[in-house]
Amino acid sequence: MKKHNFSAGPAILPSTVIKEAARAVANYQGMGLSLLELSHRGPEFTAIMDEANSLMKEILELPDNYKVMWLTGGASSQFYMAPFNFLNQGETAAYTDTGTWASKAIKEAKNFGNVSVLCSSKDENYTFIPRGYRIPSTAKYLHLTSNNTIYGTQMHKFPKSPIPLVCDMSSDFLSRPFDPSPFGLIYAGAQKNLGPAGVTVAIVREDMLGTVDRVMPSMLDYRTFVNNNSLYNTAPVFPIYVSMLTLRWIKKSGGLKAMQRKARARARVLYNEIDSNPLFKGTVAKSDRSQMNVCFVMEEKYAALESEFMSLTKENGMVGLKGHRSVGGFRASIYNAMPKSSVVALVDLMQEFAKRKA
Ligand SMILES: *Cc1c(COP(=O)(O)O)cnc(C)c1O
Repeated sequence: MKKHNFSAGPAILPSTVIKEAARAVANYQGMGLSLLELSHRGPEFTAIMDEANSLMKEILELPDNYKVMWLTGGASSQFYMAPFNFLNQGETAAYTDTGTWASKAIKEAKNFGNVSVLCSSKDENYTFIPRGYRIPSTAKYLHLTSNNTIYGTQMHKFPKSPIPLVCDMSSDFLSRPFDPSPFGLIYAGAQKNLGPAGVTVAIVREDMLGTVDRVMPSMLDYRTFVNNNSLYNTAPVFPIYVSMLTLRWIKKSGGLKAMQRKARARARVLYNEIDSNPLFKGTVAKSDRSQMNVCFVMEEKYAALESEFMSLTKENGMVGLKGHRSVGGFRASIYNAMPKSSVVALVDLMQEFAKRKA
């Protein structure tokens, strides 16, 4: 029996995608070869890469001046690669400190130029998304984290900015439509909402390129990826293939509007239960609640029941519900591929537990 997979990442993928990927690994299109054995420069992989790029552009409605790159090193490598490509020594980049990943991005950017941290919710354990900060028009870009995977907060609106936005969308990428035009760079590790670990998508607006004067190793220069269709070196063919299958699935399922509709429906069911169940409570400001990572804890007087409920979820085929150590309690990651039925199963279990204990 397939488990209910609430893991934060690597995370759930559509079951049809996993089946097709398994077939491709065994024998790609009846060729008598595994996809894993095919040249990254052969006609088969070239077709996969072309389809992945065109689906990405179509689904996100990207104008022609945006280029899709497939990179390695995880989203964490974009923490240094973005400032390395965009920020000269002496120039300033603006950052928002909304969680652990944001603070890691800040740390790396400091190696390459000046960093102005416009706001931080760190003192309150990142339980909300700060608002009302002033964005300096002299800064080179403003870095955002659209969804804070660990804390369960999400930017439901992006700030209006006089400078290009650079955004880590790792954990809510492709979960909702948005206007790409304020963004100079969008990046996302595949393993949350797109595919297996091992590839990171970065989408760059052309005018962001070639604006720094430092010496750049080829593999750290975005232009190398743009100019070579991400095939300057051996691209991570399998993660790209599976990502392409997920993009096909998103398109077939109705695109980003459908992803958003389903995400809202899943999140609503779960947050409603958290708010009405006497045993549980949410951990973040309601207005900033994530539709992808839902964090919750036991009410104080029921704290002793936490491990009992955790065991109960496991007995009921649910995995990945343990909250990150910096928040504790529970975290249900309910990405694009999560069926509503899995969320309902969790909610039913919470209700049953409350009936017995409250
Ligand atoms: C998971 C995650 C990362 C780190 O991704 P890696 O691919 O492991 O480097 C960065 N940012 C966010 C928002 C994440 O959720």
